[in-house]
Amino acid sequence: MRNALLIYPEFSAFGFWNYKDVAKLVGAKCPAAPLGMITLGALLPKEWDIKLLDMNAAELHDSDIDWADLVFIGGMLPQQINFLKLIDRVHSRGKKVVAGGPDPTSQPKIYEKADYLVMGEAEDTIIPFLEALKKGVERGTFPPPRNKPDITRSPVPKFDLLNFKDYLTVGIQFTRGCPFNCEFCDIIELYGRIPRTKTAEQILAELDALYRAGYRGSVEFVDDNFIGNKKKVKEILIAVREWSESHNYPFYFGTEASINLADDEELLKLMQDVDFRYVFIGIESVDDNVLKSTQKKQNVNREICDDLHKIYHYGMFVSGGFIIGFDDETSEMARLIEKTVTDGKICIAMVGLLYALPNTQLTRRLIREKRFFDNSSQLDVNDITIDQSTSGLNFITKRPRNEIINDFIYILKKIYSQKSYFDRCLKLAKALNVKRKSKPSFTGNLKNIIAFFRLINKLGLKPPTCYYFWRNIFIVLSTNPSALVEECNLMAMFIHFRKQTEFIIELMTAKQKSSSVKNSVS
Ligand code: SF4
Repeated sequence: MRNALLIYPEFSAFGFWNYKDVAKLVGAKCPAAPLGMITLGALLPKEWDIKLLDMNAAELHDSDIDWADLVFIGGMLPQQINFLKLIDRVHSRGKKVVAGGPDPTSQPKIYEKADYLVMGEAEDTIIPFLEALKKGVERGTFPPPRNKPDITRSPVPKFDLLNFKDYLTVGIQFTRGCPFNCEFCDIIELYGRIPRTKTAEQILAELDALYRAGYRGSVEFVDDNFIGNKKKVKEILIAVREWSESHNYPFYFGTEASINLADDEELLKLMQDVDFRYVFIGIESVDDNVLKSTQKKQNVNREICDDLHKIYHYGMFVSGGFIIGFDDETSEMARLIEKTVTDGKICIAMVGLLYALPNTQLTRRLIREKRFFDNSSQLDVNDITIDQSTSGLNFITKRPRNEIINDFIYILKKIYSQKSYFDRCLKLAKALNVKRKSKPSFTGNLKNIIAFFRLINKLGLKPPTCYYFWRNIFIVLSTNPSALVEECNLMAMFIHFRKQTEFIIELMTAKQKSSSVKNSVS
């Protein structure tokens, strides 16, 4: 019998997606459950005793490490610094570390101090690792095989490791990989360009497992691109529609997709039928020349705002990703991004500085052009790192660096000003054609009422947010009351974005000052 402790390192409190303050409104501790870790849990030998410690939701005690025979740590680039600190902490208790996940796969050298490095997707590499462990191998690296694993063999994640109350949403995965070829993307390097999909039976088994475990509410398809294989996704949605109907719609959904979602009304209708409520779309740039040069061809020649409105018509709001710092962009970019965010009614706009991720086409090109900062693959432990966007521009830029950072600050100031944010929320609520299927239970309703009072306390009592807050509530109630829940949810997100934006602007301004001091000294 072995005791395995699975640890998920903490994200920065100022990370874009780490809206803990919003989660607290409904009594949760953080936004999303660590799906990768509970999938790993399901792949480990059944006879092992497994515990999950998500450091975003709970504190790690030395006694937890002492309990374990082996400690598994998994994570992504924004968790790198905490991941590396954790390896040291586990070693200091005399225990061995198995490291895995996207960042150790992309940058194995950085994780050399882990005892075992299990790269790639766990479905494949866990098998040789477990065999080696059985033979008493003390250290080792287990690289991914040439061919990506067939995810129809992926087990139902071990949902019983989660304390559902800690999370706003629980993830499941239908597909890995994306057919597109964006130059800056690491998804296609890690998971390939041929989308691999699970079967309808697998998805229903995962929903069944969640349902039997008593979970209700938000389920997110954490796919790289949910619609990478449109034929398969429609089959899945038809199966989920039947399942949801027969289970009285216990879940509603969200996901990530490419903009061509807007081209397929059959798909949009199917998503609405199963109660999809939000989708994240990478818009990246609003200049066709930039999109072409960064190989984001699926976004070229589109009327982005029209596409977004089509999706709103099917009841889903869109969170949009934007990147600044591309080679071919002009000084007009900041104004164009701000205009698209405003006209497109994108409340949640994730704007970041371009970061050349490890093993991407972009990084390879920048290395060829001798523009890549060699030491940038490791996040600086002494720097205040939030995520790759704020540590971005890890290369020699074509536009003056300060101009790009000024544009970044300009966009953030504009789109996350109170007026702009609450105006977008209001306009979006008017455009959303909400047809809600999943209804909260009695306790769910009670939780929502308590959350609403907490929200009033945060936004509805003090100027200037109180004016916008009550204005939006009354107008939405009188014009499109079915969108009131979305309106409240999106207004609640302002609590996080206000804090995050202020912090980033301060950080960027300080970075600019220190670089100009360095320049003037040199
Ligand atoms: S559409 Fe998204 S996931 Fe697909 S290649 Fe482009 S950035 Fe990557």
